[in-house]
Amino acid sequence: MIDVKQNSNYDIKKRTDYENIMREFGIEDIDKLQSEIEQDIFFFRRKIVIAHRDFNKILERAKNGLDWAIISGRGPSNDLHIGHLIVFELILELQKKFGCKFFMPLSDDEKYVFRKLKTLDDETYKLAIENAIDIFALGFKPDNVHCYLSSETPRIYRLALDFSVNLTYNSIKAALGFSGEENAGTVFYSCVQAAHILQPSVDYNLPVVVPIGLDQDVYMRLTRDIAGRRKITAPASIYVKYLKGLTGGPMSSSIPETCVYIRDDKKTIKKKIMSALTGGRDTLKEQRELGGVPEKCTVFNWFETFFIRDDKELEQIRDQCKNGELICGKDCKPKLYNLVCEYQDKFTLKRKEVIENLEKYFDHPIKPEILEQIRCT
Ligand code: SF4
Repeated sequence: MIDVKQNSNYDIKKRTDYENIMREFGIEDIDKLQSEIEQDIFFFRRKIVIAHRDFNKILERAKNGLDWAIISGRGPSNDLHIGHLIVFELILELQKKFGCKFFMPLSDDEKYVFRKLKTLDDETYKLAIENAIDIFALGFKPDNVHCYLSSETPRIYRLALDFSVNLTYNSIKAALGFSGEENAGTVFYSCVQAAHILQPSVDYNLPVVVPIGLDQDVYMRLTRDIAGRRKITAPASIYVKYLKGLTGGPMSSSIPETCVYIRDDKKTIKKKIMSALTGGRDTLKEQRELGGVPEKCTVFNWFETFFIRDDKELEQIRDQCKNGELICGKDCKPKLYNLVCEYQDKFTLKRKEVIENLEKYFDHPIKPEILEQIRCT
């Protein structure tokens, strides 16, 4: 999805005012759905998925044995970090539970028009494929995946062109807060994104759900508008909470100390985690006497959002923190470091298997010279 934060004119206050966005645009709290969702989907049970639009319709299809699909893109970048992977872990869980197809456009075009990438050359192509390998190594099976490089897929251009007559320049400008100084590619990209989202419905008759952050809902609204005009099933969406940055603020790929990149070496991971902001007290004595504040702690947030799946274990950590039984630097930070390293090791191993079967994940042939380079490294 487009990174709203790239657009300097976007009103940050509006972006973070989730309650208003939800009320205004008919997004529902996930609590209303909770009874329908199987408790064994970790990201729902932990309320990492906080809201939805029309996901009840998708669940209804699932109940009736009808197919549907998930779509989530990835723009090629050098700085894939653990926060980026949360959404793909969620997709993996949904796929395991419901057997749905997963469509993954690699949006090199988005990165290019928003000037995050300077060229659309072979290096960009390779980077996109490398990112896809990292994501598939989380455990995706080729049979259930449709992956493609957006700029290499004529079908997407064709659909984007088709949809472009249903969006006005003014609606895109208003929705994205454009000033008029942006390049033409950024305007047309809304049509490309709609093509990514709606292609499974148009080409395979599969209603889709898109997992995104609430701040990205504007793109869903543009796409749903097109879907309504074209009598295509409107895409559903589920809204995912972001993992907190290690420094306490939002996680950002461009601020290395806020995140753990998937290629960070162990020494760097240790340094970042040991420097993380916690809810601990200033002194050991105070920590023992008053206990810590897990709600303010980034380490606890990482446990809760992803790394500790066992609810009892998490509650025990919460209680022991509050009771002053745990010490941040002695107990929790080393624990998180070990969990992050284990996670990193696990998917690094799986990369080899993915590379062997790489072509099976893609809807188009991969350039042979790029494939060879990847297989030789
Ligand atoms: Fe966070 Fe653990 Fe420190 Fe509590 S003891 S504030 S959970 S790091």
